[in-house]
Amino acid sequence: MTSKGNKKISACILSVGDELTSGQSLDTNSAWIARQLGLCGIETTSHTTVSDDQPLIANSILQLAVKADIVIVTGGLGPTPDDLTRQALAQAMDAELTLDQKSLDEIEKFFRSRNYPMAANNRIQAMIPAGAAAMANTNGTAPGITATLENATVYVTPGVPREMRIMFENQILPKLPRGVGVISHHVVKTYGGGESAVAAELEDLLTRSGPVVAGTTVADGLVSVRITSHAADIETADTQAGNVVEKICERLGTLVLGVGEDVTMAGAIGELLRRAGQTLATAESCTGGMIGAMLTSIGGASEYYRGGVVAYANEIKQHILGVDAAVLETHGAVSEQVSGAMAIGVCEKFGTDWGIGITGVAGPTGGSPEKPLGLVYTSLCKPGGEVTVKKHTLGDHNPREIIRQRASLAALNALRLELLAARES
Ligand code: ATP
Ligand code: MG
Repeated sequence: MTSKGNKKISACILSVGDELTSGQSLDTNSAWIARQLGLCGIETTSHTTVSDDQPLIANSILQLAVKADIVIVTGGLGPTPDDLTRQALAQAMDAELTLDQKSLDEIEKFFRSRNYPMAANNRIQAMIPAGAAAMANTNGTAPGITATLENATVYVTPGVPREMRIMFENQILPKLPRGVGVISHHVVKTYGGGESAVAAELEDLLTRSGPVVAGTTVADGLVSVRITSHAADIETADTQAGNVVEKICERLGTLVLGVGEDVTMAGAIGELLRRAGQTLATAESCTGGMIGAMLTSIGGASEYYRGGVVAYANEIKQHILGVDAAVLETHGAVSEQVSGAMAIGVCEKFGTDWGIGITGVAGPTGGSPEKPLGLVYTSLCKPGGEVTVKKHTLGDHNPREIIRQRASLAALNALRLELLAARES
């Protein structure tokens, strides 16, 4: 376990900035810091975000310092009047801001080396609360600050992610309590099960306590099973997580896309096509190229993805993909017959082993009782020319983008399952 003696080491992270609380920027610093702390066996128990408001920052620092062993604050160290974290820390410590000559020398040196005059207000960046210490910033002007307050060691870093990371790695990491164990994170990405179904299937493995903790999350249409492993060293943490990951993969079978944060549907398909030495082309109507975009987000996709046609207008389906005008007339553009003909057409045109054809009603208008919003047909033209069709009803209440994204994933998953089945046979 992550303990020092019997005591767990806990951290709280405070991010500061109007741009974060107003929703204009995302707080990525906290997530990054929490992962780094986890690798040192330090558990982050809260993320707090506050605006550039001195009393609010001061109160937050004080409250967190009472609760946690380590408090990490990012942002608000700039030279402008809206940067108030150093004043807030001084307020929380009930200390005066004093000039740190070494920091001032460093800031002046930073400007000299860039042949840039130093503005008078940069001087404030060399001020730190009495009793605190400065942490050098090798990649910007604002030094960080470290201080002891209540039960905690408080570290303050700039908000700029790059400056924060370098300062964390060089100045904070070496000072953190060590040899107290590690926390490692693992993820199994799945598609096609739905979160509750996946959770039900894994019920006995989704433990909330003990050395290995597991739970599910959903993002971008994929259900992830996240495994957190606590151990004395990274090898043990990885091994005990690996055992659980193996069981999860066995249990979920073909729902599993892969293991790792960077696993995607397109990546999983790329791997399968590459191994099979086969090629793919796409003919997209309602998804307008989204499937092609997903496929080409993987480096080296040209090895197996030859290209696609966005066949939005019926004439394009007819003239470029060779969909029969009579089929379009009789069944309508959103029909299994048309998606099938699109898949065959693109396969022939591009000379590929596999072809995907997709057509549907993405909305928000254009739905009818027979063809409601969210109705999507995806066809696969397989090596040898056989065509399979799947009908998806992706919800008439869903926004256009969700329907398009789910339709793209569903089409790619149909291909993935065929590729898996072909590999087995
Ligand atoms: P510094 O202390 O380095 O001067 P600051 O908060 O005073 O930081 P800002 O100009 O407010 O400087 O922010 C600098 C940049 O860093 C902005 O682009 C901001 O969105 C980004 N940033 C600040 N905090 C975070 C955070 N928690 N996560 C991601 N980006 C952040
Ligand atoms: Mg700021």
